Amino acid sequence: MWDVRITNARLQGRSGLFAIGVQDGLIASVLPQGQSPEADAARTLYDAGGGMLLPGLIEPHIHLEKALLLSRMEEDAASLKDAIRMTAAMKYGFTRADMAARSLYVIREAVKNGVTHMRCHAEVDPILGLSAFETMMELKEKVCDVLDLQVVVFPQEGIFQSPGTAELMEEALRIGGDVVGGITYQDPSLEDHLDVVFRLAEKYGKPIDFHADFSDRSEDAAILDIADRTIAAGMQGLVAAGHVTSLGSMERKRAETAARRIGEADLQIMTLPATDLFINGRGDRERPRRGLTPVKLLQEHGVNVVIGVNNVRNPFTPFGKADPLETAWLLAVTAYMGGDEDAKQLIHMLTGGAAKALGIQQYGLEPGAVADMVLFPEVSERAILLGKPEQRTVWKRGRMTAETKLQTRMDHIVLH
Ligand SMILES: [Zn+2]
Repeated sequence: MWDVRITNARLQGRSGLFAIGVQDGLIASVLPQGQSPEADAARTLYDAGGGMLLPGLIEPHIHLEKALLLSRMEEDAASLKDAIRMTAAMKYGFTRADMAARSLYVIREAVKNGVTHMRCHAEVDPILGLSAFETMMELKEKVCDVLDLQVVVFPQEGIFQSPGTAELMEEALRIGGDVVGGITYQDPSLEDHLDVVFRLAEKYGKPIDFHADFSDRSEDAAILDIADRTIAAGMQGLVAAGHVTSLGSMERKRAETAARRIGEADLQIMTLPATDLFINGRGDRERPRRGLTPVKLLQEHGVNVVIGVNNVRNPFTPFGKADPLETAWLLAVTAYMGGDEDAKQLIHMLTGGAAKALGIQQYGLEPGAVADMVLFPEVSERAILLGKPEQRTVWKRGRMTAETKLQTRMDHIVLH
């Protein structure tokens, strides 16, 4: 007898309807509907009603402790520099309880939206010390039944520009940080910055996740230094970089050469369209640049590109509701990804592609994988992307963690 049996579900890349059996938190069986033996008894039966079942969505890049700051802002940020300055000033007022409450609100929203894995960047610097990092580590424990949270040790204010940060990063890694963070545009010497980040990664055996080349200046190409270092360190597949938007301003030939090098280093590129579109290009009084990383060009060169929400309602991005589908839809519109195959690709970027980027094992809707799932009342990836339906059912390790049902009444409209 299965613990849970989901019937009449559509799956990615397969036609027809399927029944999924879950046992001990793992997917035990995936069979075409009607072929599952002995009417597979289960403690809990769930009829998917022909809707599409996806593996749990993955949010690969988010800042929790600086989410939901709009009510504290007296003005909007006019540039990236502005956003960093305004947020740094607000950080002096952050308490642990305040960071935890705002983070938990965002996590609840994300879980409701189908997210079962998340990577957050916790800021480590002399302003916050380890308070944001420790708050995220406590949350990681607290929410582990509904969400797997990876915590990046992130030097937002720079490592050398903000003395004392390297020591704090090392302490955070010593007590369990999952990923070494880095940022290519905050310190005077990129080389020195990369030295510290790669040294910490080697010492603690951790993957790396950079904020890199967040600009619309075609001359910014720190990503090439990151690619060289990654290959030299033998860390192919273990290094990620968010933004990488300057690549979108380069002339085609140079961008192609860079994409090839990024592919050789197997860097995991995270496009963050809400922030990138909002911040970049605003210095151009005419013909503003779009400011996104060239997603299709990178994919043509075999690069794994995934999509992150990055910020939710703060100076960097005064938008967002922690819904990966909203971010994917925004990318679809702005990266010319409007076709049926594009929709499949975008959903892959939120699921299997993101699992690779974050090193998540036993992922997917197949026997032996962890039963992290989200069900949509739609029949295809394209319908999910276009509809962004709020109606979703979410399971973590086979246990239902969120179910949203909507009812619309239109009694006063006669449709004939
Ligand atoms: Zn970020």
